[in-house]
Amino acid sequence: MSTNPLKILLVASEAVPFCKTGGLADVVGALAKELSRLGHEVRLAIPRYADIDSRRFRLLPILPEMKVNYGGQTFTGSVFRCPYPGTDLPVYFVDEPNFFDRPGIYGPGRGDYPDNNIRFAFFNMATLWALKGLDWRPDVIHANDWQTGLIPALLQHHPEVASDPFYQGIRTVFSIHNLAYQGNFDKWTIPNIGLPWSVFTPDGMEFYNQASFLKSGVVFSDALVAVSPTYAKEIQSEEFGAGLAGTLSGRADSLYGILNGIDTEEWNPEGDKEIAEPFSGARMQGKAACKAHLQRRAGLPEKPRVPLVAMVSRLIAGKGFDLITEALPELLALDAQYVVLGNGEPAYEQALVEAAKAHPDRLYIQVGYDISLSHQMIAGADLFLMPSRYEPCGLTQMYSMRYGTVPIVRLTGGLSDSVVDASPASVRDGSATGFQFAPYTAEALVDTVRRAVSVYTQDPAAWARLVQNAMAQNHSWAKSAGEYVELYRGLIES
Ligand code: ADP
Repeated sequence: MSTNPLKILLVASEAVPFCKTGGLADVVGALAKELSRLGHEVRLAIPRYADIDSRRFRLLPILPEMKVNYGGQTFTGSVFRCPYPGTDLPVYFVDEPNFFDRPGIYGPGRGDYPDNNIRFAFFNMATLWALKGLDWRPDVIHANDWQTGLIPALLQHHPEVASDPFYQGIRTVFSIHNLAYQGNFDKWTIPNIGLPWSVFTPDGMEFYNQASFLKSGVVFSDALVAVSPTYAKEIQSEEFGAGLAGTLSGRADSLYGILNGIDTEEWNPEGDKEIAEPFSGARMQGKAACKAHLQRRAGLPEKPRVPLVAMVSRLIAGKGFDLITEALPELLALDAQYVVLGNGEPAYEQALVEAAKAHPDRLYIQVGYDISLSHQMIAGADLFLMPSRYEPCGLTQMYSMRYGTVPIVRLTGGLSDSVVDASPASVRDGSATGFQFAPYTAEALVDTVRRAVSVYTQDPAAWARLVQNAMAQNHSWAKSAGEYVELYRGLIES
């Protein structure tokens, strides 16, 4: 295979540091940086939401007026640009104030905007238009999740795009970060975006008589990536396939599992500006200071020898909060402290807020989204709990390991691929990095927390080894980005 630099367009609905609701944003930002560091010509396209700070990032108009025609309508969009902070990688912000000059990304708070089909269809179409306007033709367009799933369909089937020599031969990769979010809309979306009805079949993007943006990405892309090897297998099963198991197993030859990496600059205990004191595997005093600081901030008794368990997560059933609420009385009976940061379903928020009121010396919860506190929790805790029902990749367990915070995870998706369960043998041979449990039950969860707490309190030497093993793991993007490059190259050369 050649080693020529590739031209890669990453396209997504969110990317750090501009806008973020979840792991997708971390992945897109970090992958773009790493591909660029590997010497490729990478550009990134995201919508220009009103919440993006145009002044801070110094956005400049690059295509001030861009007519985008489809479905018998003409939209007037524009494209802004800035370099990705700290690099010269161009980031394009695709705008149309009717769609993006409003609060939030997918909706104003909880819930979605009712015209998300039209908003993201515009984003997909306008991104392709912008490439031509900028006269930059990528070798590969790497789309992510349903919000960008139309791009492969447009390239192949939109009459104007598919017949235009400019777009010929562009390969597409579609990454599935979460199959549960599918972007299924009224079927009249199809003519509205100028696609022919021929794409609306069970082999195409029809999903139970709806137009599915995710399925469009799944069926029309040249290659598919699930964000961990285990998730790539799981989504081909009825249990995890969210109605698409058959479609996905039909594409098994083109479906790859590539574990996400983490941004080791943003999540670095030695240089993290958000935490009380920096630390490293060789200098762990800083971690004790971070723990004390977190206990004070959470109003918990400042006890260095009581294990402190953190959760930073969306508060939804998929992340295991049904188990957590069920297990709370038993968890609170252990000699441990808990700090929770997150927002999501009101019932879980309320259950945790009430439990924290009843047990202020054991449990602290902050409802909300707070990046600075998320760093302080991950740095200051001893254990990080992630009892997800399913987890495509998960990032926080990898952030935690880097900060010597031992993850307790359920055996699913990327949690299976990134954590090795602690047994006396695996602690001794240096492979153990956390605690795992398999059955999705409150009982298994409590047993595993109890097991972790007892290693922490009864066997400090084993605990110290476990912490060092976890911190020594390399979850940087270098390896995963290399796998993506190999995949892109294989497509181009095929
Ligand atoms: P998902 O994308 O399914 O929510 P991931 O583990 O892949 O789960 O990524 C979640 C990301 O969002 C992590 O960077 C995590 O730190 C962050 N995050 C989640 N909830 C909060 C919160 N309440 N405050 C700050 N950051 C959060």
